[in-house]
This record gives sequence, C-alpha cells and structure tokens, in this order.
Amino acid sequence: MLINYDYDLIIIGAGCAGLSLAHRLTREDYKVCILELSDNINSKNKLWSFWDTYETPYEDIIKKKWVNLIIKDKNKTSEINCDRYSYNSIDSHDFNNYIFKVIQKNKNIDLILSSEVLNIRKEEKSISVTTNKNKYICKHVFDSRPENIKVSMWQQFFGSYIKTEQEIFDDQKATFMEFSKLRNKFHFMYILPFSPTEALIESTYFSSKKENNMLDAEIIKKYMQNNFPNSEFKIVKSENGSIPMDTKIKAVSQKYITKIGSYSGATRASTGYTFINIQKQVDHIIKLLPRILMGKGTPKNNFHSYLLRKMDQIFLDIVDNDPDFMKGALIKLFSSKNHDAQIRFLSDIPNIFDLIKVIILLPKIKFLKYSLGFIRKND
Ligand SMILES: Cc1cc2nc3c(=O)[nH]c(=O)nc-3n(C[C@H](O)[C@H](O)[C@H](O)COP(=O)(O)OP(=O)(O)OC[C@H]3O[C@@H](n4cnc5c(N)ncnc54)[C@H](O)[C@@H]3O)c2cc1C
Repeated sequence: MLINYDYDLIIIGAGCAGLSLAHRLTREDYKVCILELSDNINSKNKLWSFWDTYETPYEDIIKKKWVNLIIKDKNKTSEINCDRYSYNSIDSHDFNNYIFKVIQKNKNIDLILSSEVLNIRKEEKSISVTTNKNKYICKHVFDSRPENIKVSMWQQFFGSYIKTEQEIFDDQKATFMEFSKLRNKFHFMYILPFSPTEALIESTYFSSKKENNMLDAEIIKKYMQNNFPNSEFKIVKSENGSIPMDTKIKAVSQKYITKIGSYSGATRASTGYTFINIQKQVDHIIKLLPRILMGKGTPKNNFHSYLLRKMDQIFLDIVDNDPDFMKGALIKLFSSKNHDAQIRFLSDIPNIFDLIKVIILLPKIKFLKYSLGFIRKND
C-alpha cells in the first residue's frame, strides 16, 4: 500500500536544475522533497563550462578558469579574449557532492533516490506525486524531467579525460572549437587543459541525425597521436551526451507545476549552454516563491529574447544546410580585438550595441537570405 508523505515543495530530478533549486531552498523554511530516478547521481560525469557573466554560489568549486580561448580551422585561428568574463568549468561530481553535504545538514530537505515519478495529479487542495514506491502530497511541484519531444538538432559529444607523462598542454589556453577537416559536417574538437599533464578532449557534432561515427575513444586517441606524437597518455575517464538544440523548447508550466532546467527552455539553442540560465532561473524562482505558492505567480522563462531565438534559428539552419560555411563565419565572429560583446551574446545578455557588433561581424547577405526565407533549411 502507498504511504502518503506531506511536503511544501517537491522537486523532480536531482540533476543540475533540481539540485541548484534545492541548494537555494536550504536558506528558506519550506519542507522539500527531491525525487530522483537514478540510484547514484554521480554515475554520469559532466563538466559544465560557462562564461563568468552571472554570480553563482559555486565560486569555490570551480575546477579551472581560462582567460584565453582559441577557435580555429586548418587555415585560420582566432583568439577569444576572456579577460573580463573568464571561461570557467565545474565538475558535476564536485557540484553534486557540495550540494549533498549542505542538504544532509538540513532537516527540511529529503533526497529520495531510485524513485521514478509516474504521475502528478491536482487534488482538491494539494498536488499528489506518485512514484514507483510511494505517494507524496505537496503544494507545488518543480519538474526537471526531460520531455519526449522532437528536436531539430542535437549537440552530441564524446570526451575523455587525458593524463600524460610529459608536460604537453598549455593550460593557460583552452580550445573552444578546432574544426576537423571533415567536409559537410559541423564537427570540432573541444579541449580544456586543466594542467600541463591533464585535459578533457571532446569530439563534438552538431547534427540533426545521430552521429555515432567520431564519437568514441578512438577519435580522442587519434587526436592525441596526431597532435602530440611523442607523448604517453592514458584515458582516466570519459563523458558523453547529447544536448537538445531547438529554439522551440519552452516551458509548459501550469499553476501548480513549474518546469525547470534544460527542457524548460534554459538551454541556448545555438550553443547548448544551460548552466548559467539554470542559476538565473532558480534565483528568480526563490524571489517569486511566496507568490507561486499562493497561486499568483508564474516564473518567467524567457531566457532568450525573440531576436536571439530568431538568430539562433538562422544559425541552426545554416549549420544544417551549409556547415562548412558556418565554421568560417564563427572564426570571423571572433576576428575583432575585444570579445566582450560576443561573450555577452553567447551568454544571453547582449545589449543593443553587442547585437549590432555581432551582426556586422557575421556574413550579412547569407544571414539576411535565411532570415527572409530566400534560403530554407535543406534547400
Ligand atoms: C555531458 C554534458 C556536458 C554538458 N556541458 C555543458 C556545459 O559545458 N555548459 C553548459 O552550460 N551546459 C552543459 N550541458 C547542458 C546542461 O547544463 C546539462 O544538461 C544539465 O545537466 C541540465 O540540467 P537539468 O537539471 O535540466 O537536467 P538533468 O541534469 O538531466 O536532470 C534531470 C534529472 O531528472 C531525473 N529524472 C528523469 N526522469 C525522472 C522521473 N520520471 N522521476 C524522477 N527523476 C527523473 C534524471 O535522472 C536526472 O537526474 C552539458 C550536458 C551534458 C549531458
């Protein structure tokens, strides 16, 4: 028989969004339950990278910061100057363990693993959440489960953490994008050197189809052999995943259920960046929480303005139709001396002057043709 448990708030999913919200709630006085499907949330590894454009409570667990990034293909290289907004990485294990410790000390928050949410129902004066094990009653639900929706493009990647014998990496410079010679594919390597002997090397595809080719340890080994032929290295661990890239993903929150995380629209369609938007989202929820609980407030989920979504859609259409052209356009986007405008643009906070600068640097005729519909996707 199912037992009823009573809470103020239920969070579904102990991923980045669920745990970020739970962490903020440790400073509040609500009875909270987090229901998580998996039995071990550290079973998967993720490294979240982002430009330092928004203050988060996670400064102490940042694994590494870079102020120089490189974007290149076989002919051209641009350096991205991140003096003002450093490029930071957080390891999801450090993040999970840090938040676990805070939650464990808090008697108001329960984390229940191996709990699959099957059903959410509005009762007369409450919400009931049924899992494979129990029934929970609360006033409001925050739901971070992925949606089963058709997505126009995926960012797919496979990355390995490399440890070398010799000091071979320049850990002052990360490689944002190193486009491969593969023609008609939007494929690049992403390299984050943590020290002269340690780096994450990731093979990444933007594609509307699943691309298993080039997404395994072999490509990483080949990259190491080609670029550092005399070095001995071992793969310590690997991460892989796919991030939905679609301008149409939007929150379908209801009065008593608020959608959070990637599938609430927090993921930027053209880049996959999500971490900072999740932090903004949970800070906004905390401010609005008393009103949400009274049924009088719905959190804003407009992470990206209409103009940014429109520009992202054009970007995705060109990546799909003409990936080789887009690679050159991106390198040119960073051909200016200062890159604060481009970083604010990629981090969802461009001002009007930033947008003008980005538009000037991008190939205007091609973008205009796509935006006016003269060229359509897969023409
Ligand atoms: C490998 C990887 C690297 C990434 N790198 C970056 C990066 O560098 N920068 C960046 O900004 N973004 C990055 N992202 C994108 C984004 O930040 C992450 O996907 C982020 O984890 C999204 O958080 P979330 O809480 O929305 O979803 P998730 O972290 O996926 O959390 C959802 C949770 O819900 C649980 N769940 C699902 N169904 C149920 C159910 N029925 N009942 C209970 N629980 C359920 C899942 O088990 C999961 O724990 C990356 C993504 C991946 C996969």
